[in-house]
Amino acid sequence: MPLYRTDGVVLRTHKLGEADRIITIYTRTRGKVRAVAKGVRRTKSKFGARLEPGAISHVQLYEGRNLDIVTQVETAQHLPNLRGDLSRYGRAAVLLETIDHVTEEGEGNPAMYRLLSGALAELDRDGNPLVVPAFVAKLLVLEGVQPLLDACVVCGRPDRLVAIALHEGGVLCEEHRQGEPISDAARTALQQLFDGHVRHVLAATESGTALEVENLGNRMIEQHIERRLRSSNVLYQHLGDRGDRGGS
Ligand SMILES: [Zn+2]
Repeated sequence: MPLYRTDGVVLRTHKLGEADRIITIYTRTRGKVRAVAKGVRRTKSKFGARLEPGAISHVQLYEGRNLDIVTQVETAQHLPNLRGDLSRYGRAAVLLETIDHVTEEGEGNPAMYRLLSGALAELDRDGNPLVVPAFVAKLLVLEGVQPLLDACVVCGRPDRLVAIALHEGGVLCEEHRQGEPISDAARTALQQLFDGHVRHVLAATESGTALEVENLGNRMIEQHIERRLRSSNVLYQHLGDRGDRGGS
């Protein structure tokens, strides 16, 4: 059986049999991989906490026919603050769940890997609520979609922007307002995150605005995941239709 080594972020785990777990891990070289970790639930497992969700590890795996098998794990990056702090861990869980939703097994994407591991490290260093929306902005840029934030999506006017409606694709002026209100400070911070000025926004945004932006970021994740689900459903429906026609 072929053996391979890579770095990976553990996205989630579930129990298998008496002592094993199936680990879903986002790897640097092979994208999302599902693998069996044998004996990981025993107290004296050689894997320890290195296969817990959020861990960033060097892994060695055997390629299996259905699932790969984890044979060795070492810590790649220590994240000592993540697990001890509920709010940081909650934010980390949002990152893990998002990557799990927007990636398919076996599609390597080193930029996506860097984005995820970098955001986890940043959360560990500094539990700033803006880490999640900064991650969302980069993710949407990677995926080729982003909301219009500097002009009304209906009329194009660049001022008096007071609302945001993600299903409409961005912000709206007083006259065309729908969706939910957005403050000028939050809109500017979001725009700067999409423009890549993450350091500046993390340092300069006050806490009330940070929470508003975090909220909007979470909404963007939901909306993006929903849109992906819808478009893949449409695709499956389409394939199904073709299959029916082919069979008749
Ligand atoms: Zn307008």
